[in-house]
Amino acid sequence: MEKRSKNHGLLKKYPKLFIKQKMVWPDIECNDGWYWLIDNLCKTIQDYIDQNKKVSQITIGQVKEKFGGLRFYTNGYNDDRIPGMIWFAESLSYSICETCGQPGKLRTGHWYATRCDECQKKKDKEWEKYVKSKRNK
Ligand SMILES: [Zn+2]
Repeated sequence: MEKRSKNHGLLKKYPKLFIKQKMVWPDIECNDGWYWLIDNLCKTIQDYIDQNKKVSQITIGQVKEKFGGLRFYTNGYNDDRIPGMIWFAESLSYSICETCGQPGKLRTGHWYATRCDECQKKKDKEWEKYVKSKRNK
């Protein structure tokens, strides 16, 4: 796994949502640009559970990026609003740069990623460098 990111702070911030299962902590596999999105989603879900006694506690299985969008997998639910909250956050992720958190859009070049123009330019340069280094071998 890559270096510890800001996202991993969320495991401590929401101890009821992030629980060690079979000796393994649920993982957050995306860049920190989505930190505030995931943070707000966790807060909204946990507040809702805490305020509604009939809603049972859910836990998070995995949070990751797939095809440029956020995926938020949970274990157990008995309430239809929580999947709706997750659906909204996942939809919103396609408009937020995964790298820096600024407004962005889905890029479908060499791989799918949601980025702002600036982060996309940086990535394009890195890619050019990489391609050049391969050619010069
Ligand atoms: Zn960006």
